[in-house]
Amino acid sequence: MKFATKAIHAGVHPDPSTGAVMTPIFQTSTYAQTSPGQHKGYEYSRTHNPTRTALQDSLAALENGTHGLCFSSGMAAIDAVVKLLKPGDEVIAANDLYGGTYRIFTKIYADFGIKFHFVPMHNMDEVRKNLNANTKLLWVETPTNPLLNVISIAEAAAIAKSNHLLLAVDNTFATPYLQNPLDLGADIVMHSLTKYMAGHSDVVMGALIVKDEALAQRLAFIQNSCGATPGPQDCFLILRGIKTLHLRMQRHCENAAQIANFLDTHPKVERVYYPGLPLHPSHEIASKQMRGFGGIVSFVLKGDDIDEARRVMETIKLFTLAESLGGVESLCTHPASMTHASIPKAEREKNGLRDTLIRLSVGVEDVEDLIEDLAQAIG
Ligand SMILES: *Cc1c(COP(=O)(O)O)cnc(C)c1O
Repeated sequence: MKFATKAIHAGVHPDPSTGAVMTPIFQTSTYAQTSPGQHKGYEYSRTHNPTRTALQDSLAALENGTHGLCFSSGMAAIDAVVKLLKPGDEVIAANDLYGGTYRIFTKIYADFGIKFHFVPMHNMDEVRKNLNANTKLLWVETPTNPLLNVISIAEAAAIAKSNHLLLAVDNTFATPYLQNPLDLGADIVMHSLTKYMAGHSDVVMGALIVKDEALAQRLAFIQNSCGATPGPQDCFLILRGIKTLHLRMQRHCENAAQIANFLDTHPKVERVYYPGLPLHPSHEIASKQMRGFGGIVSFVLKGDDIDEARRVMETIKLFTLAESLGGVESLCTHPASMTHASIPKAEREKNGLRDTLIRLSVGVEDVEDLIEDLAQAIG
């Protein structure tokens, strides 16, 4: 089945008891048994819930996996992956990560005896240099946030395979519409469903997708044991969002490309970060690995003046100044003080994230209105 058909049909079936075409919201914590241990596959909603099952099956289909597992947030999904590890184990992660991922690694799991190395993964020699007998997991996020660096999943997978490591890929920015990490050799795909998958900025949820039965069972055990599972109402909302994922992503990509071009030629803009621009350092690998360049555009104004950047963010109207991304409405973020404030300034700057960088989550509005708004704000 092709992507658009899967987005609409995978995992969902008319409800057998009523014929309801849309998956019902099974707002129940428990399920009747006819005799002790005799049930229809559902015992308790932390473990399984039919609305969640439909969503998990849909996600597995979209990522070309066999098992989907939903969590109450993207962070809870990341948390479940780290719980596959033991004290003494080591992780090699990209150095340009979502702030919350960096925070859980360094502020929570480092205290549990897990060691993290943060390296620039566009150069796989940096990964090889940090490998040792304790390395168990490679953590990749691509494209990265907010600099839109693209990391080769196939190259990371080759290192993971030859060293018997797990490779997990945070696919939040690309979505399965633009890339399928499992097809490129990853073991685990992670999503903050909060973003493009939900698409309407009204739910917080996360997911993992795998294609290995044993790994799926280990993660399902963690999911059920630790209990960070989402409710059925939220699962319903993500299912509804997914039905238009392909339409939204197509427009996000088109609008973002036009905005990147507009900013790139604007006399007051020093630098634009968008993998679709031929001069972006990741353009070549992005063109190979992704089916489009996504909806996020970051930029820095000439002069590198924080007051000027602040003025633009205060003056812009259609782009709401807010955290998060991936909704139909355009948002604008100041990573240094918002999404990436949990990364120390020195670490941010070492990785090329300047305090004057503005990140846009380009929505699906009319692009002429968005460009007009940017033009008036930049002045
Ligand atoms: C938002 C985000 C997360 C965290 O997900 P939540 O749903 O907010 O917990 C992880 N990775 C990336 C790339 C994100 O954008």
